[in-house]
Amino acid sequence: MSNFQYDYVIVGAGLFGAVFAREALQKGLKVLVIDKRHHSGGNIYCENIEGINVHKYGAHIFHTSNKEVWNYVNQFVEFNHYVNSPIANYREKLYNLPFNMNTFYQLWGVKTPAEARAKIEEQRQPYRDIEPSNLEEQALFLGGKDLYETLIKGYTEKQWGRPATEIPSFIIKRLPFRFTFDNNYFNDLYQGVPIGGYNTLTNALFEGVEIHTGVNYFDNKEKYDQLARKVLYTGKIDEFFEYQLGKLEYRSLHFETQVLDQENYQGNAVVNYTEKDIPFTRIIEHKHFEFGTQEKTIVTHEYPHEFSKDNEPYYPINDTDNNALIASYKEMAASADYCDKYLFGGRLADYRYYDMDDTIEAALSLTKTELDNQ
Ligand code: FAD
Repeated sequence: MSNFQYDYVIVGAGLFGAVFAREALQKGLKVLVIDKRHHSGGNIYCENIEGINVHKYGAHIFHTSNKEVWNYVNQFVEFNHYVNSPIANYREKLYNLPFNMNTFYQLWGVKTPAEARAKIEEQRQPYRDIEPSNLEEQALFLGGKDLYETLIKGYTEKQWGRPATEIPSFIIKRLPFRFTFDNNYFNDLYQGVPIGGYNTLTNALFEGVEIHTGVNYFDNKEKYDQLARKVLYTGKIDEFFEYQLGKLEYRSLHFETQVLDQENYQGNAVVNYTEKDIPFTRIIEHKHFEFGTQEKTIVTHEYPHEFSKDNEPYYPINDTDNNALIASYKEMAASADYCDKYLFGGRLADYRYYDMDDTIEAALSLTKTELDNQ
């Protein structure tokens, strides 16, 4: 008979914590979930304003080719037929993304795949012999000047906060050219947005689970550790270890959201602004994720930002130094001092850019190793 009040305390009410909590509950285990934010759902949380689900921590589109994950989420929620087809705005002209026959027509007036391939080859010609040592050279080598200057340079420099000549070339391994008139951003088999928004999914996963929000684990770590046999931690791993080995780096975002007294602002959920001089990278019009017909609309301007203690750690910077640091933290996590008591998972503890399907896959994998013998 255990002396603990719970089997697991789960730190973080995001998607990773939600899947683990659901599976543990299903096995008859007792779990307590805590989150320092005042709501559950982590970064997929939506705030309902004017009847529109506003993606508060950045636009989210569910897409996967993993049938197990797709079947898993469909037990809890139905998905609509939203297909992500972003538009790029460069100097007042619009281009379709990802790079496809529509984009090539808009750039050069070419109408057939053969013409498009020939044009790309011509554009690449001056850069054929370079050995790319940074992102600028890599993009020119792969796609030539027009694509780079119109659709890649400004956007990427804003995202990374530095000139493309100072960004490593590995960021762009290949340019995803598509020689069909297909504006679907993703190649995955399954795609959509939950009908009723992402909170419908996380609320269903958390049904029957005890959640305490507005609670920071580190304000009372000892107490929470004593409450449960084990702790699943889904926050920042460097913070867990009190930055003993150093700080992991992130890029952050700043969002400015406005309610507009008009029905339809830009006719698309996602419009990228690829010019360097426009400080934001994207405008998101939230209602279009769910084909909303409300009288008003809500738009969010997205500004890339340095990460500091005052904003959110959104994108891990997986360069050589940070990858070495996370490997060392993971060794600490797996050491005898920690592995019997603590489990780690999710995008912050793994320091990985996990899409939602990756997060669910990783959480299900942990539940198999951790819960299947119980
Ligand atoms: P999180 O959602 O970050 O949850 C972790 C939770 O832990 C947070 O709620 C946090 O408050 C809590 N926490 C941390 N520290 C503590 C503490 N000390 N005490 C208590 N609580 C704590 N994926 C897609 O598939 N499609 C997309 O279009 C997409 N777009 C994205 C856009 C952006 C801007 C970002 C950042 C991510 C996007 N993702 C997308 C990825 C998706 O958000 C993640 O896969 C998913 O949300 C990860 O869930 P998680 O539980 O690991 O992390």
